[in-house]
Amino acid sequence: MKNFLLFSFFASLIIACSPAEETIDYTTMTDEERLKAATEIAQSTIMVDGHVDLPYRMKVGGFTLQREILDVSVRTPDGNFDYPRAKEGGLDAPFMSIYIPASNQKIPGASKALADSLILMTERLAATFPDKFAMAYSPADIEENFAKGLISLPMGMENGAGIEDDLANVEYFHKRGIRYITLTHGTDNLIGDASYDTTGTYGGLSEFGEKVVAEMNRVGIMVDLSHVSDNTFRDALAITKVPVIASHSSVRKFTPGFERNMSDELIQAMAKNGGVMMINFGGSFIDSAYAAGGAKVREHIVNWLAENNLSRRDSAAQAYISEYAAANNPFPTVQKVADHIDHVKNLVGIDYVGLGSDFDGVGDSLPTGLKDVSMFPNLIAELLKRGYSKEDIEKICYKNVFRVWKAVEDFAAKS
Ligand SMILES: [Zn+2]
Repeated sequence: MKNFLLFSFFASLIIACSPAEETIDYTTMTDEERLKAATEIAQSTIMVDGHVDLPYRMKVGGFTLQREILDVSVRTPDGNFDYPRAKEGGLDAPFMSIYIPASNQKIPGASKALADSLILMTERLAATFPDKFAMAYSPADIEENFAKGLISLPMGMENGAGIEDDLANVEYFHKRGIRYITLTHGTDNLIGDASYDTTGTYGGLSEFGEKVVAEMNRVGIMVDLSHVSDNTFRDALAITKVPVIASHSSVRKFTPGFERNMSDELIQAMAKNGGVMMINFGGSFIDSAYAAGGAKVREHIVNWLAENNLSRRDSAAQAYISEYAAANNPFPTVQKVADHIDHVKNLVGIDYVGLGSDFDGVGDSLPTGLKDVSMFPNLIAELLKRGYSKEDIEKICYKNVFRVWKAVEDFAAKS
């Protein structure tokens, strides 16, 4: 025993004195060696994804409280997320999107009711497979689950409409486990203006929205500025006392005119605030040529279906659609996602960028090499090829978002 301790002591000395990981030059490796290194990093590092639309996929899949949930504990033929593929890709903490479609805003109470049922469904997923999934309400929870080999299911609410018109619901949803709220979704809501809506109801954040942001700071819910208009974005940054996130937004420079993505001015403002921007992988988010091509393909398909008297559901039509789309509008590649990460890094530094795939939320538009949660190592390998260090990768995977989350926790503890 004594010899063993002595050995451990010297072994740790040797490890401490060996060159730091940063000195590994990943750029000179072969693609095969680099993918192996990337896979090892993905497995050994906590990986947080800011936005996965699994709850809504499960809802669409026919979930009711009486019926069995869609079983993502095993490999599923469709969708982008399930347990085996998450394990392969090294994904440890996908934020479950508690997504409320803007159409619910028209019916008082419907947004909160849907949020409650999606939260229940997420909790039920963790409770049904306790050897695979666990709820997580803090970075500490994620670290603990990671040590046990469990996939954490932190929750973010996509669309502040869930709060309805009652400020007390902010604290209510914190108690229910929500750790970020995306202030708006597709259309303006009671909180503020949305990027996809040109109405400009308030010219930014509403008076109620200002109170919501302050209350989120107070109770410890991260402010998520994906989906909001530029004016709402600026207003929220001016009010928040803590760093914010964009849970699934990409760089507007690559998609001119697409306000859903972030302009350089907003990226710089967010970095100044200490926040983190988590890059969306969706084809139309990362490549405007793909988005434009998609619109042309859709137009052609509509005409073709009419000419041939077929519906989108006919198998002959489906085969034609996928062939035609592949030939006329090829998917972007994983390199394109790396371009977005590069842009943020070059503009404001490595400390302000993360991953917010939007898996299960962007349909069949994902880049080649990044089609589902098993393929994260391909992205890491591409970043290593571009000279990113292991430390850089760790920041992108979890350290940056943990920094924001902990600052939000600390502020709330003192409030
Ligand atoms: Zn979204």
